[in-house]
Amino acid sequence: MSNSVTPSLTPWSRHALISIIILASIGSIMAAVLFVIPSLIPITDSFWHEWVDEAQAIRPWLASAGFAVILIIGIIGLHRQRHSADGKAEAYHALAQQLSQVANKSEIVINAIGDGVIATDEKGIIQLINPAAQAIIGWGKQDAEDLDYRSVLKLSDDKGNDIPQDAGPVQQILQGGASVTRNDLLLTTASGKKINISLLVSPVGAYGSGAIIVFRDITSEVSENKQRAEFISTASHEMRTPVAAIEGYLGLALNPATAQIDDKARAYLTKAHESAQHLGRLFQDLLDVSKAEDGRLKNDPKIIELVGFVRESVSVLAAKAQEKGLSLVFQPDVTENASNSIAPIFYVEVDSDHLRETMSNLIENAIKYTKDGTVTVNVTADESHTTVSVADTGIGIAQEDIPHLFQKFYRIDNSDTREIGGTGLGLYLCRRLVESMNGRLWVESETGKGSTFYVELSRISADEVERRQTQFGVPQAT
Ligand code: ADP
Repeated sequence: MSNSVTPSLTPWSRHALISIIILASIGSIMAAVLFVIPSLIPITDSFWHEWVDEAQAIRPWLASAGFAVILIIGIIGLHRQRHSADGKAEAYHALAQQLSQVANKSEIVINAIGDGVIATDEKGIIQLINPAAQAIIGWGKQDAEDLDYRSVLKLSDDKGNDIPQDAGPVQQILQGGASVTRNDLLLTTASGKKINISLLVSPVGAYGSGAIIVFRDITSEVSENKQRAEFISTASHEMRTPVAAIEGYLGLALNPATAQIDDKARAYLTKAHESAQHLGRLFQDLLDVSKAEDGRLKNDPKIIELVGFVRESVSVLAAKAQEKGLSLVFQPDVTENASNSIAPIFYVEVDSDHLRETMSNLIENAIKYTKDGTVTVNVTADESHTTVSVADTGIGIAQEDIPHLFQKFYRIDNSDTREIGGTGLGLYLCRRLVESMNGRLWVESETGKGSTFYVELSRISADEVERRQTQFGVPQAT
């Protein structure tokens, strides 16, 4: 809905004014021609005398007619002016009403939401604090408004160290930065209690002209997560040992060199062995996840020749692909054979255990979620980055699942995946491991056509590797 406000001088009133000026001018000229000039010129001719007499006779009529015209135009002009002034007042009134309705609605919404909302101006002075924010922080509206946000919103990092005045998320926004989300900060309330908060700070309008701070208390969520992680870590650690023992003894029972069993018993024990292996992997995944989450994941970067390293990971899983009737292709070898050239050599500097686990998770998934066709692993690079891709011709992933794929315990539940076992931890762990290597992990996929997972890592040039080896004797990881 739009409302136009009438300009201060309408076209009509402008016309009226111009008409009055023109008529007044014409009237003056006529008066001069009819009465002033003839009276100044000595008139001898009788025609002129008659003309002056006649003109003098119609003078009252002319004057009355002129006056009447000027009066009518003036009245019309005034009427239009008044009318337009009325319209203008109405338009202003409607606009004011609309604005106040919008303001009321925004206030109702801001007051109703459960998250704390604080708005500051460009200097960081609090302009608005909603009831949820007042309840979380323990400051009243009257006390908080017009104060610097730092007096009210006292932030510290997860170890309790105060955030420096000019490095906090709100300050970043006030200095023109883009929106900031933080889940790792503590807030000190008016009573001195420290609570965990989830915080989103966004600029108001143009960058640097104020900030909107939205936050909520996540203390209980953080504490629950911590307890859950501790439980998972302890339980999986305790259970991994007996499961490893069961797996080992089942392996011995299945080995013809160490045990004699009939075919029926072999079939049962093979199933038991597979399940024990699956359980062992689950506990290992859980343990790795809890390590990744509480910062116990060790990171020991070494220089790795990537093509050879990935070839190794592929060959370990070749038997698994073969069992399923899939072809597992390592593209650099195919290109090498086809073009009679040598496979390229790319170096990265990462933790070899993290890279091995990531590669094996991605290739295993590609085999697991592909019924028939090919799994192709490739390694490419540009000047500064290397990219490993794992492409399959499998069931694919719907676009709406892709944003959730790397979350903990996320499994896609559909008719294609229901029969396939898993924990929903593999891709989450891959993400954490790739992050720990300062890399990037993403997927491109189409349902029914297959998926390609990419791992991007920083590349180290051959010259740099050589320089480090001669200078420090840096060992290469295998
Ligand atoms: P899971 O143990 O279930 O395999 P992941 O975290 O490895 O757990 O994978 C999460 C989900 O992502 C899987 O349940 C599966 O639905 C989907 N997924 C992973 N890799 C692929 C793939 N290559 N093709 C299709 N779907 C996949």
